[in-house]
Amino acid sequence: MNAKLKRAAVALALALALVPGTAFAADGAAADQAGLSQGSMLVSLSASSAAEDAAAASKERAERLSGMYDKLHKVVTEKVEKAFYTIPYDRADIDAIGNQARSGHTICCPSYSCAYADAVMDGTVRDHSYYVCSSCRWPDWGGGNSSFRNAGYGTPQLREAYDQISQGRPVVIHVGGVSGEHWIALIGYQNAADPDNLTLSNFTALDPWDGAQINAGSKYRLYGDGCQHISSR
Ligand SMILES: [Zn+2]
Repeated sequence: MNAKLKRAAVALALALALVPGTAFAADGAAADQAGLSQGSMLVSLSASSAAEDAAAASKERAERLSGMYDKLHKVVTEKVEKAFYTIPYDRADIDAIGNQARSGHTICCPSYSCAYADAVMDGTVRDHSYYVCSSCRWPDWGGGNSSFRNAGYGTPQLREAYDQISQGRPVVIHVGGVSGEHWIALIGYQNAADPDNLTLSNFTALDPWDGAQINAGSKYRLYGDGCQHISSR
């Protein structure tokens, strides 16, 4: 019912209901009664129509809010997925590979890191000796057995790490810590809202020293040579 018609119906209904004697004076009490019931009917019709209109408006509002919520949820979800991700892996694979502290191979951090990275990437579990014990030769990690691969120090290096991880590919990165140079496997990122402006603290790593999953920035800093290795598989 349109608004003008609705207002007219309400006015008429009120006139009949409130002053039946005026409208139907000539017909006496019966007319008064008829006027009353007619008025009541109009009031009732008008009320039910108003209720229908209110229900429709309420439904429309609910649908509009629901649409807005869906859009907001999508935007937030996309932002969160873009900023937080850790490649899923099987912890048992990392435990099977072992770690430097347990083996006593204190200079085998690059080889252990490559082993962790392959396990995280697709469940390929190899002993760290596959990557050459004591002197990592980077098979499958860097192309051409290169011992040095410069990805551009700082933000370009970490942008590459972000891009690789977002595709499910870990990165083996050169870092410095309290005991000097070290290599760790980056396997995730966090709070990475701007992938072109990241620090090591935006990355989750597996540390070959003890096999622990850590925030890379909590123990290490970039070594400073821009060196990191990506999978060539
Ligand atoms: Zn070793």
